[in-house]
Amino acid sequence: MSSEIKEQPIKCPNCGHNIRIALDASEGDQDYYDECPACCREMHLNLHVDEYRQKIQLTVNSDDEQIF
Ligand SMILES: [Zn+2]
Repeated sequence: MSSEIKEQPIKCPNCGHNIRIALDASEGDQDYYDECPACCREMHLNLHVDEYRQKIQLTVNSDDEQIF
């Protein structure tokens, strides 16, 4: 039993600001939104856990369809 929380540096797709986010790989694949602290726009985060290679793949993109 080990909790797999890793910090990963990412870049905001909207403004390019560098952010560190905590990833919890024990939860499996995740698809969620987080707000950029610099530009306050939402980032779409997609976390994929590759159990065979014990790697975490993180995809970050902005949602162009999102209108505030
Ligand atoms: Zn931003």
